Amino acid sequence: MSNYFAAIFGAGIAGTAIALELQKHGKKVLLIDPHVSEESPGAPAALVNPATGRHARMSWEAEACMKALRETVEVVQKDHNGELLISDTGVIRPAISEKLAVNFRESLEKYEWPDGWIRWMDEKEVSDLNPNIAPNYGALFLDCGFTVFVDRYLNALRKHLRLNGAACRYEAARYESVPDGNAYRITLESGETATADHVIAAAGEQTPFFNHWQYLPLHRVKGQIVRYEADRDLNWDHAVSAMGYTLRRGKRDLVVGSTYEHKFEDLSVTERAAEQIHGKLAKMLPGIAEKVTIKGQLAGVRVTTPNKLPVIGRHEEHPNLCIYTAMGSKGLLFSSHVARFLAEHLVNGSPIPDELDTKRFDG
Ligand SMILES: Cc1cc2nc3c(=O)[nH]c(=O)nc-3n(C[C@H](O)[C@H](O)[C@H](O)COP(=O)(O)OP(=O)(O)OC[C@H]3O[C@@H](n4cnc5c(N)ncnc54)[C@H](O)[C@@H]3O)c2cc1C
Repeated sequence: MSNYFAAIFGAGIAGTAIALELQKHGKKVLLIDPHVSEESPGAPAALVNPATGRHARMSWEAEACMKALRETVEVVQKDHNGELLISDTGVIRPAISEKLAVNFRESLEKYEWPDGWIRWMDEKEVSDLNPNIAPNYGALFLDCGFTVFVDRYLNALRKHLRLNGAACRYEAARYESVPDGNAYRITLESGETATADHVIAAAGEQTPFFNHWQYLPLHRVKGQIVRYEADRDLNWDHAVSAMGYTLRRGKRDLVVGSTYEHKFEDLSVTERAAEQIHGKLAKMLPGIAEKVTIKGQLAGVRVTTPNKLPVIGRHEEHPNLCIYTAMGSKGLLFSSHVARFLAEHLVNGSPIPDELDTKRFDG
């Protein structure tokens, strides 16, 4: 029976990120996920944008988050000979009202944006760059922003982990504590068993249902995206973020998101959401909205906490049970930087920032 430093439940954005960071520390990891493989379909594209919301606020530890994510992408891309995992083509945030233009300009002054990250474009520059963008009062252009082809990226990352020694098991499993010890026994559906010094719950929207984690105030918000095909080649490759976002993948493909559904019964895709998303596309790229047909629609759930930051750390009563979840809408941006804090903590005992720690919810 093998022994692992950590058994990680969930091979999505959080699980693969913490697996990679522990692997870099030379630790043996067991990555478990019953719903994915190294050839999984998944979200075709997602945005990495550190200037979010109506005020283009600089997101939490933006510089460190961007640096860590880019390092991860580089490592994975290097041994992935196939297609590109990201489209490093920036994000435009058109100010579609005067108020937004004021907010966006204030953001340029208010935050210490690293050189080369962000710039203002006047209306003419916006129209020269992409005449399809809705009438606007100028725009922020984030040269640092990029689009991740999430399905490719995660499949490549899982493969990278396996090739570098991680045990990846794409099947269901359960864990139980070993009597008189701190370790956990892992039993896989196939009957295989293992032990692990730590169990990390990184199961995305399923994490709040794990028995040990029900005391955390985790909120689930459903979201849907639509994949469209245009009737002609589209001649821009940056992402657009205003009222929602549109991302490019392929010559004619547009991925448009997303809805925020706080009350929902299941994860099925709905016509109502498709209409809402088409409305967003029409507001961002009015001419294009009439020239597209729906090619697919996906629903998922964002997990969030009251301070809108991820949660990592140890269980209040069972210190070797750990968690990494609640990345909200910024899963990619947060993933590697936050994983580094958790890995450093588990391997070297380094403190976890208070704003991320499970301790902020201890009773
Ligand atoms: C509509 C929508 C649009 C979004 N757009 C963006 C965006 O543009 N940019 C961005 O950065 N983020 C975006 N997000 C957020 C992003 O998807 C999440 O932050 C991110 O996926 C969270 O990562 P995770 O690993 O916690 O969960 P996931 O990526 O969902 O991974 C969880 C994994 O756990 C597995 N699992 C479930 N149950 C178990 C179990 N019992 N045992 C083992 N494994 C299990 C699942 O199969 C899954 O593979 C969006 C989310 C939604 C819903």
